[in-house]
Amino acid sequence: MINTVEHFIDGKRVTPSSSTTFADINPATGEVLAEVGMDEVAAAEAAVQSSANAFRGWSETPVGDRCQVLFRYKELLEQHFDELTQMIVDEHGKTIAEARGDVRRGIDCVEYACGAPSLMMGRTLPRIAVSTSFSREREEGIPLDSSLERVPIGVCVGVTPFNFPIMVPLWMWPMAVACGNTFVLKPSEKVSLCALREVELAYEAGLPSGVLNMVTGGPDVVNHLLTHNDVKAVSFVGSTAVAKHVYMTASVAGKRVQCMAGAKNTMIIMPDANQDAAIDGVISSSMGNTGQRCLAGSVAVLVGDAPDWFIPQIVEAAKKISVSKGDVSGCTMGPLIDDASVQRVNKAIEGGIEAGADLLLDGRETILPEGGSFVGPTLFDNVPHDSALAMEEIFGPVLSILRVDSLDDAIAVTHRSPYGNMAVMFTDSGYAANKFKDTAGAGMIGINVGVPAPMAVFPFCGWKDSFFGTLHSNGEDSVRFYTEGRILVSRWF
Ligand code: NAD
Repeated sequence: MINTVEHFIDGKRVTPSSSTTFADINPATGEVLAEVGMDEVAAAEAAVQSSANAFRGWSETPVGDRCQVLFRYKELLEQHFDELTQMIVDEHGKTIAEARGDVRRGIDCVEYACGAPSLMMGRTLPRIAVSTSFSREREEGIPLDSSLERVPIGVCVGVTPFNFPIMVPLWMWPMAVACGNTFVLKPSEKVSLCALREVELAYEAGLPSGVLNMVTGGPDVVNHLLTHNDVKAVSFVGSTAVAKHVYMTASVAGKRVQCMAGAKNTMIIMPDANQDAAIDGVISSSMGNTGQRCLAGSVAVLVGDAPDWFIPQIVEAAKKISVSKGDVSGCTMGPLIDDASVQRVNKAIEGGIEAGADLLLDGRETILPEGGSFVGPTLFDNVPHDSALAMEEIFGPVLSILRVDSLDDAIAVTHRSPYGNMAVMFTDSGYAANKFKDTAGAGMIGINVGVPAPMAVFPFCGWKDSFFGTLHSNGEDSVRFYTEGRILVSRWF
């Protein structure tokens, strides 16, 4: 008897009713963990109604009281840290260390949202003008005072991807509810069990019914939420193709929208770079989370004679990666999320060979555990600059190495990408680093850092086809995204 992932509506678990289900598997073993209901439009409707009903009471609850729930929630997340870590390992396939990072970075977002009393404060400018025309009998002018208040906007929706099951939902709903909104979460069908537990713990912390609802489902559920009259704002994280659809559909329906999307990130290696830092940084960026990160550096651009030291060392480092189920001792790389991903990565490898790139290490030949969705670390050298390997997101452990003569040629490679999530440079030269920062054309820049992920206090600043919208997730942007500005101009006689 296989479990079904329930929805969480109005403060309780609700059994799905759809005839179409998705098999949520442990990607390291192929074991089916649960069935996920996909045609759940009726549940999505109930979730929005629940959030709409809860909005008034919650938005009128003092912000300090709202944050007390989040303080308790943070404590619960700490208490359940190991349980959540293991859930991520089982449902997503991450290594223990990666899963712990997923939970820790999520907790950072909850901590940041606990600062909502300061973060959503408005501003006042007394005596912004003086009115003289109202009463001619008065000698003195009447001052006008003006202030900006930040107020909640209503029901917000979050649609999240599979690759950070705990953290990415926590980019969204804690700040949204701290600011007085109510929220409907539609997590990835591939990691719905993690999301359900995350939501359930929020209720254990004392969140009132309806403030946070969760519904499972596929495109029909998402489309229902994007166009619902009672929904005011939509946050999305996922692939660029779906992000474009979500952005267009929800914008046309009059919603405030932020869509964090796909990526193809470049790392430039200068000949003068600290060699250990560069090798470590490139390996962790390209192979960490089995390459399934929007901040994965998947293209390394080697400048001048950097290949002389970089190539032998990167091959050696990649060969040391130990691929297995994430909680096996010594594991440094877990599986991909599913067999379809293995097929996609294998196709990318075949495409690279056909395009004439040199295969330095073939992940299809790694000795891999049986039964799961595994592929080993893969390295290509001399990758043609226009090939799919160099230009398209693979979302797997494949590093494409390109060679160029100069710093300017390397920066030109980053520019050609339609994406602009992140760009990284390893160098000893402040001049090169500054030139790179100013011209790379990406919103998150790493200097001698392989994964320049912003901590929760800063926005997640993707550019170009890696982001659609105006206000990013996290940091000050998220406070502005989840609040409406209200201007008050007043005078008294
Ligand atoms: P995905 O686009 O397949 O799915 C994301 C969400 O959209 C899921 O909840 C899914 O159920 C839903 N969805 C899928 N197809 C849909 C459709 N046709 N209509 C409406 N909803 C649909 O993404 P994924 O495979 O889960 O995640 C990987 C992608 O996410 C990668 O491209 C990665 O770069 C990106 N990502 C980006 C960021 C960022 O901050 N920029 C962070 C994490 C992941």
